[in-house]
Amino acid sequence: MDRERRKQILSRRVPGWISGLLVLGSLGALLLLERRRPLRERKTGESKLRRDGRNLAMAALSAAAIGLVEKPVVEPLAHKVVDRRWGLLQRRPLPVPLELFLTIALLDYTLYIWHVLTHKVPLLWRFHQSHHVDLDMDATTAVRFHFGEMVLSAPWRAAQVLLIGSSPLGLALWQTITTVEILFHHSNTRLPAGFERYLGKLIVTPRMHGIHHSIVREETDSNWSTIFTWPDALHRTLRLNVPQREITIGVAAYQDPAELTLGKIIALPLTASRPSWRLVDDGTPVRRPAELPNLPRTALAG
Ligand SMILES: [Zn+2]
Repeated sequence: MDRERRKQILSRRVPGWISGLLVLGSLGALLLLERRRPLRERKTGESKLRRDGRNLAMAALSAAAIGLVEKPVVEPLAHKVVDRRWGLLQRRPLPVPLELFLTIALLDYTLYIWHVLTHKVPLLWRFHQSHHVDLDMDATTAVRFHFGEMVLSAPWRAAQVLLIGSSPLGLALWQTITTVEILFHHSNTRLPAGFERYLGKLIVTPRMHGIHHSIVREETDSNWSTIFTWPDALHRTLRLNVPQREITIGVAAYQDPAELTLGKIIALPLTASRPSWRLVDDGTPVRRPAELPNLPRTALAG
């Protein structure tokens, strides 16, 4: 394939209506499945409408932040990357399908690193905590991020595109797949355990990510992957042996729904002063071995 033709293909975008249809279609299907086959019982008695409204309001602010800060930098950068052959994957022309697959895998891997940083760097955790304090977890938790986290992640995204050598098409495919996958793995959908065990060898599943949203610190410090499971397997941070019925979702220090209104979770990065992993009046939650089935860490509990 000549260089101009190749450039043309890699500079394409995923049409907005296709990614929109995929994302909204997945959200609709997951909301339906969550009602029919919920995975975890809901902890709060709050109306679903109110909860979804709050999470979607957070999502709208985040989308605005991405549109204002990330998009105007990262998209032109991806075009430059192809034009000037910057970054790892542009050094030598690879077959287009292989290049696109590697772009998605490497963007996913570097997002794993970013996710670890959002937990380990205190300033980043202040923002990422707004996502984790949700007392229940479902498909709308997937889009509930603090807009400040989106602003802070923009330079990371630009560095990912530049170093990996991500084309506009690779970036757009990764963004669409990532959005669908985060809706899926945050969803409160009960898949047959056998099927999920199989699926989890390749991609992140609801039970796996449920463990990441536990109030027990060593459980939250696992399962950081987004699309593919291999980054967690590679770094030995995969943890599957916690049954969902044993998990309390959220952050230990913030278990009172009155402290988690829309205004308060927006202000949380500025107001948060408690040690996250300690309950307000009841010490640090730990997992007693008796609560766990007799399974290795990486075997999925039903
Ligand atoms: Zn997290």
